[in-house]
Amino acid sequence: MKVYNFSAGPSMLPEEAKLAVQRDFLDYNGSGMSVVEMSHRSKWYDEIHEEAQSLIRELMGISDDYYVLFLQGGASTQFEAVPLNLLVKGKADYIVTGNFANKAFKEACKYGDIACVASSKEANYTYIPDVDKIEFREGTDYVHITTNNTIFGTRYTKLPNVPHLVADMSSNIMSEVMDVNKFDLIYAGAQKNIGPSGLTLVIVKKDIIGSPLPFCPTMLKYSTQAEANSLYNTPCTFATYMAMLTFRWLKKLGGVKAIQEINEYKAKLLYDFIDNSSLFTNSVNPADRSIMNVPFVTPSKEMDAKFIKEAEANGLVTLKGHKLVGGMRASIYNAMPVEGVEKLIAFMKKFEAENK
Ligand SMILES: *Cc1c(COP(=O)(O)O)cnc(C)c1O
Repeated sequence: MKVYNFSAGPSMLPEEAKLAVQRDFLDYNGSGMSVVEMSHRSKWYDEIHEEAQSLIRELMGISDDYYVLFLQGGASTQFEAVPLNLLVKGKADYIVTGNFANKAFKEACKYGDIACVASSKEANYTYIPDVDKIEFREGTDYVHITTNNTIFGTRYTKLPNVPHLVADMSSNIMSEVMDVNKFDLIYAGAQKNIGPSGLTLVIVKKDIIGSPLPFCPTMLKYSTQAEANSLYNTPCTFATYMAMLTFRWLKKLGGVKAIQEINEYKAKLLYDFIDNSSLFTNSVNPADRSIMNVPFVTPSKEMDAKFIKEAEANGLVTLKGHKLVGGMRASIYNAMPVEGVEKLIAFMKKFEAENK
């Protein structure tokens, strides 16, 4: 059965990319080898690595002032790598807008004078604090934000105006146009908008990686990875290959600006339906709503469970919400077609009529 998968990550990938993997899996480009069997020092893999790099640069408009690194360990490893590499004066500010933002903050606290300068915890992270009202400290190495909060369904629509901004962009990278020049560093696990899990993308300004903390592990030093073109050790070749295929798909579709329009359209369809529903609600501050992750609930836990079960039987899968929020969550990343969202809404309508 064809299903629409609303998983928060790993999540849906473009059909076209999956078909290419299937077609080429046993014999990549006439090499006689599968892409998962090739040396990461081979000419075949080298081409994949280079094409993936240049497509990211093209899609996100990244200048030569930045390195694009292909790492492993997920966004969670970057919670440590960021302070280990960027704390020169030993001081950084964090805005805590969700569970992952809080984890990033907690890890950083081990390495310096770290402050949580704003948080929406008291309202179970249902909004993004007004960045213009935050009092940032003087003399910090960076300010850390989480541009899209995967679990709680919020996103920044305005960035803090600070000189050194670091962002966890795991769940909305390449979903909307972002000016990379506004950031010192961007990191993202691939498994939401880019490809399979395993690959972690780091985009970092070249001139800020020269002074990691003395005890920073070699593998976590951005300088190690930059000098080796992300081939210091064996990279996750398969995930990078699939990411490259996803980038090709995105480019063909018209790039990030084109997908942003589609994403905004999908999100609007779903939020409009929820806002006019007598059964489903979303409790996020409307101005801060994510266009990637849409949490919603019915009036009771029992009905939520019934909804999830019946949705699954109708080919709408992985709609269960995160335990910190409950209810449902529809993750509608780049690869989710409009048709998937329309199917979900049609099902919600039917469920609402049957459960009044
Ligand atoms: C999924 C996610 C993470 C965790 O990523 P891992 O790759 O599993 O470490 C961190 N931050 C955000 C915003 C996420 O969505």
